Amino acid sequence: MTTKIDGKYIWMDGKMLPAAQATIPFMSTALHYGLGVFEGIRCYDTERGPAVFRLREHMERLVGSAKIFGFRQLPYTAEQLISAVKETIKVNGFKECYIRPLVFHESSNPNLNLDEGVARIGIAVWGWNSYLGAEAIHNGVRANVSSYTRHHINVMMTKAKITGNYANSVLAKTESVRLGFDEAIMLDTQGFVAECTGENVFLVRNGAIYTPSTGTILEGITRDAILNLAKDLGFTVYEQPVSRDQLYLADEVFVSGTAAECIGVCEIDFRTIGCGKTGPVTHQIQDAFHAAIRGNHPRSAGWLDYVNG
Ligand code: PMP
Repeated sequence: MTTKIDGKYIWMDGKMLPAAQATIPFMSTALHYGLGVFEGIRCYDTERGPAVFRLREHMERLVGSAKIFGFRQLPYTAEQLISAVKETIKVNGFKECYIRPLVFHESSNPNLNLDEGVARIGIAVWGWNSYLGAEAIHNGVRANVSSYTRHHINVMMTKAKITGNYANSVLAKTESVRLGFDEAIMLDTQGFVAECTGENVFLVRNGAIYTPSTGTILEGITRDAILNLAKDLGFTVYEQPVSRDQLYLADEVFVSGTAAECIGVCEIDFRTIGCGKTGPVTHQIQDAFHAAIRGNHPRSAGWLDYVNG
């Protein structure tokens, strides 16, 4: 499945540029060493026009990622970046799109010191429907437990969306897809379930929901939304260590992320999970999530930022 990056304009360092002009030099340290932090955000078509899901939380996480990585100063505040995101959506005329803000390091000499150089920022948008395939919402996806371990928390900073961190995700995802799976589940350095290459993981057993605590994982914004929606629906939710075999025995497993949204996992390591399709609890949570992102849920008011005010 190929995704076309079809936004016509990219916001870069305060200017709206035709996409083809938003380029970076070949010698950029960001390109050579993975020196950047980014976000993935979605904007949804609602009755009140385009609305960005949890924009403030995403921008706060971006600023937090920059702080964790060690950028001493960003040229724009979270507030200014929120306005820039809305402006970029408007200029590109999307009702619904994926949004990619990226803070990247640029230096005139190649070096490994973040303080030698500057932070630049770009924001791109494009139309992007389902990340794990259109069928996935009903059929679920097939996953394997990756042969690659998720980052140790003192090797890479797992709470930050640092571009270089994603080489780990790329190793795991590529291996999974080459093996014929849709997604990889990664274990942490102790052997507990951490997360997928771009999603958080949940399991359902005997009507309760379990998800790994935030120790080694990215604190997913969709994960937080799902936890709240699940509690609203009356489910008991446990954030605790989860082992690989607990996934095998689960009634349902599902994953959450901005790109993937909320998707069931029907098979792990050639073992069928539950009924082998998206299970009833996952369906209930998916329905609440879809209502929330479209402005049709009591939670929507706090979570949607309408592009046209
Ligand atoms: N874990 C990883 C490693 C991710 O890249 C993502 C996607 N940002 C997630 C979890 C899910 O986070 P969110 O719900 O904020 O998109």
